[in-house]
Amino acid sequence: MRNVIVAANWKMHTTPADAGELARTIGARSRTPGVLRVICPPFVCLAAVRDALVGPDVVAADGNGVAVGAQNVHHEAAGAYTGEVAATMLVGLASWVIVGHSERRRDAAETDDLIGRKLRAARAAGLRAILCVGEQLDERQAGRAESVVERQLGGALAGTDPGLFSMTDAQAAAASAVGPWLTIAYEPVWAIGTGLTARGSDAAAMATAIRVTLARLGFPDAGEGVPVLYGGSVTSASIDEFLAEPAIDGALVGGASLKPDEMAGIVARAGLTAAARRAQAGIVAGPTN
Ligand code: PEP
Repeated sequence: MRNVIVAANWKMHTTPADAGELARTIGARSRTPGVLRVICPPFVCLAAVRDALVGPDVVAADGNGVAVGAQNVHHEAAGAYTGEVAATMLVGLASWVIVGHSERRRDAAETDDLIGRKLRAARAAGLRAILCVGEQLDERQAGRAESVVERQLGGALAGTDPGLFSMTDAQAAAASAVGPWLTIAYEPVWAIGTGLTARGSDAAAMATAIRVTLARLGFPDAGEGVPVLYGGSVTSASIDEFLAEPAIDGALVGGASLKPDEMAGIVARAGLTAAARRAQAGIVAGPTN
């Protein structure tokens, strides 16, 4: 059974002075069994957010706390890269990292090849990666959305050991508690920060295409196991359309993730999806509060 995940991308918002309090409020108000929650603040706020999330008031009844993620990582382990942050530097501050966000593809000219190197650097440091893929509006209108995403996946995952996707039962149990090493976020670029969302059915079709592509790229074990999130102007009012799709396992949330009410609503709805999946799989729920 794949994880249900809600990840918050705070982008370039919050400061070390206010990020901890916001994270604690969101963590406390979004305690929901069965949902992996991840908050990705700016680098300089990682420590404040990590420290704010240790209290029992943010841990859900099934033991899930809130994980901390970075929004980017450098592809090299160390060196003369002014202003950059290596994966090993994040260890202890974050356990997740976003790679390939469209705003970095746009603003920092990140290529699929570079994103692949970041992904491997993150993996080598033991960070869980959220790999973002998604097409531009003109690419969708030209009927090229799936081929663009296929190219992005192929570029980012070239050279990845297929064995990383095959898990023993013990590894699968560990991954279900803390998340797998790789999650894909399908984020149509035209839906990010615009208030526009994809249709749930289109996002689900893309999630299925992503799994087919992973198998075709030589990762047959990835297909059913890798969580695929939707991202693009998700709010508590729009999330249901995506969670109604069995192919979609949660959301990467930008703007709305800075609002505790919104995050509480989104995670609560994701909790219903997680409970329904558990029931379908015949898994008895743990204690609830
Ligand atoms: C994002 O930053 O990944 C994102 C999806 O942003 P928003 O929800 O604001 O569109």
